[in-house]
Amino acid sequence: MTTLNTARPGTKGARPVDYDAVVIGAGFGGLYMLHKLRDELGLSVRAYDRAGGVGGTWYWNRYPGALSDTEGFVYRYSFDKDLLQDYELATRYLKQPDILAYLEHVVERFDLAKDIQLDTGITAAAFDETTNTWTVTTDRGETVTATYVVTALGLLSKINMPAIPGIESFAGELLHTGAWPDEHDLRGKKVGVIGNGSTGQQVISAIAPEVGHLTVFMRTPQYSVPAGDRPMSPEEVAAIKGDYDSIWEQVRNSVVAFGFEESTVPAMSVSEEERQRVFQENWDIGGGFRFMFGTFCDIATDPEANEAAASFIRAKIKEIVKDPEKARILTPTDLYARRPLCANHYYETYNRDNVSLADIKEHPIVEIVPEGVRTADGKTHELDVLILATGFDAVDGNYMAMDLRGRGGVSINEAWAEAPQSYLGITTTGFPNMFMILGPNGPFTNLPPSIETQVEWIAKLVAAARERGAAVEASAEAQQGWTETCRTIADMTLFPQVDSWIFGANIPGKTRTVMFYIGGLANYRAQLAEVENDGFRGFEFTPAAQPALA
Ligand code: FAD
Ligand code: NAP
Repeated sequence: MTTLNTARPGTKGARPVDYDAVVIGAGFGGLYMLHKLRDELGLSVRAYDRAGGVGGTWYWNRYPGALSDTEGFVYRYSFDKDLLQDYELATRYLKQPDILAYLEHVVERFDLAKDIQLDTGITAAAFDETTNTWTVTTDRGETVTATYVVTALGLLSKINMPAIPGIESFAGELLHTGAWPDEHDLRGKKVGVIGNGSTGQQVISAIAPEVGHLTVFMRTPQYSVPAGDRPMSPEEVAAIKGDYDSIWEQVRNSVVAFGFEESTVPAMSVSEEERQRVFQENWDIGGGFRFMFGTFCDIATDPEANEAAASFIRAKIKEIVKDPEKARILTPTDLYARRPLCANHYYETYNRDNVSLADIKEHPIVEIVPEGVRTADGKTHELDVLILATGFDAVDGNYMAMDLRGRGGVSINEAWAEAPQSYLGITTTGFPNMFMILGPNGPFTNLPPSIETQVEWIAKLVAAARERGAAVEASAEAQQGWTETCRTIADMTLFPQVDSWIFGANIPGKTRTVMFYIGGLANYRAQLAEVENDGFRGFEFTPAAQPALA
């Protein structure tokens, strides 16, 4: 699907630019941004992705078992009513090939491919403050100029390769789930998996039946509930399609935007019996966010409520996992305050004879040797394949990997040296005319509705900047205020009390900081509306020193 770079003149700027806008990334965010700017604002736009296809997350994460944990009826775009009606909905959750096919369909339906250049990484982008334009450099040695740059780089996109001694010496196959090859055959092999987050749990459950032997290397056990995946009946699908207007209305006015009503009942306000009933009911329905936010309103904020949910899950582990030693290793003891997980038949998988569990908290991995993984108890776990389900350098990882320079030649690495920051998760001070989709301190939700919110708002901001013939940038005060808002809200929850990628705490050496607006989608949208209605409060509009040609 790679297209040729046929540079076209942009319509505004001191000198003709190659494009009005460059979009980096061709996942959910980049694709909708391209459509919005090109087809609704009438701009010339070029999108780039280093991947060989569109889809972002769903292009790269082809590991066995890869599945959305947002229910499929709201893990899609809402902006086109016909698309919602036309596109199928066969199962409760969507498998990776289904989501990839959906995004490829969107590309075809809106004729996007001709403006997307694949297999092309953006290595650098620099803002020229005399002309208010960006110069963007690709890893093919091309440079193009544009008035606007939209970074849709993905928040779970830059893979985390753990620096385990000897990793390069492994004689078998080393795979990371976030860069999974098309061809693989695990049948009958001795396979190891490091990592048991969302990804690890999915891959472990999916491959256990086909591999010869599976060894799971577990450092921190995590709370998990069943996903509850199942086929959708034609009646359910018809009911959803007939009700989409109110479904999206509910999603946009909710906290986590997952398509269910969040509970308003505090866990400790009901009897023990009622609490157990509600937990069991939601365990049976399945879904991680539903279990955390649909059971009671304070699981993520009140330690006592949190412990009630945590101890329910611990009891399930004890009940399901037959081997007491495996059950012990699998049982978390800390707060239930990471991104809530769910998986299909996850705990049951450990009852299989061909699955063993290595407690690498107790006996850490010492090194990787050609034959496999050596742990501190002196054991060498022999492996043919080692799967790293070790997650991502989340949120700012792909930004820091680029030579991105704003006003005064200041790099993003310098600007974010203390911590990645933004105003509204969309712009960052010192980088005029650069708009981020899912940038730092953006909403923590089911992501497509937040992506749509941001894309639609960016389009309004671009239109306002064009009207004023100026570059637009967040003021330092506005950014500071937003950062404090995000920190204050995060501190009202239990999430910061546990180490995870949500706070950048999964990468050795990375600054631990607030990286999300945890106030919910409804409040986030209200903030955006308020800022817009107040004449884009907190933004500075600066005309170019060299006036526009025509
Ligand atoms: P991405 O889809 O990550 O796309 C970013 C693209 O930018 C990538 O293709 C990358 O190659 C490209 N890129 C980055 N840097 C450069 C560069 N310098 N030059 C060129 N190209 C570049 N979210 C949910 O809400 N619900 C879910 O159920 C869910 N499941 C997930 C499952 C997995 C396995 C993972 C990893 C994430 C999941 N997420 C889920 C989060 C998911 O990332 C988002 O829902 C969504 O797909 C993000 O879209 P995006 O366009 O913002 O970013
Ligand atoms: P993750 O949640 O960060 O989990 C990474 C795992 O790898 C953890 O178990 C971690 O252990 C382990 N790990 C990392 N480095 C290690 C090392 N050096 N040695 C031993 N263990 C190591 O990453 P993820 O599972 O890829 O999930 C990231 C996010 O992607 C999810 O939270 C979710 O938002 C999204 N996602 C969603 C789905 C879905 O269900 N739809 C599926 C996949 C991903 P520690 O905990 O001890 O650090």
